Amino acid sequence: MQFCTDCGGVLNLFGNNTSSLCSSCIQHRKEPLPPKAVSPKQDDDVLADSILCVENGKIILRSKEGWQLWSASVESKTELASVMKAAKLIYTIRKRRKKKK
Ligand SMILES: [Zn+2]
Repeated sequence: MQFCTDCGGVLNLFGNNTSSLCSSCIQHRKEPLPPKAVSPKQDDDVLADSILCVENGKIILRSKEGWQLWSASVESKTELASVMKAAKLIYTIRKRRKKKK
């Protein structure tokens, strides 16, 4: 029989429990869970206010700040996912530059 090295209580040996602490002491010692990685959720909304318009035969995606985030000729076909990806990237870079000023 094994005893808890902390409180001296009898250890509950479940399966391959190799700990020298009883479950209640383990609970007490448990480190708080690390905070979840902050997901870049706000990035999803970045393009929500953007405006898609046609100027001089080009489709232009413009942010609410007036930055051109993406453009293509009217005839071209582009996957929306790649447009979003490119636009978000440019928006992020622009925003970073703005902050530095
Ligand atoms: Zn204990």
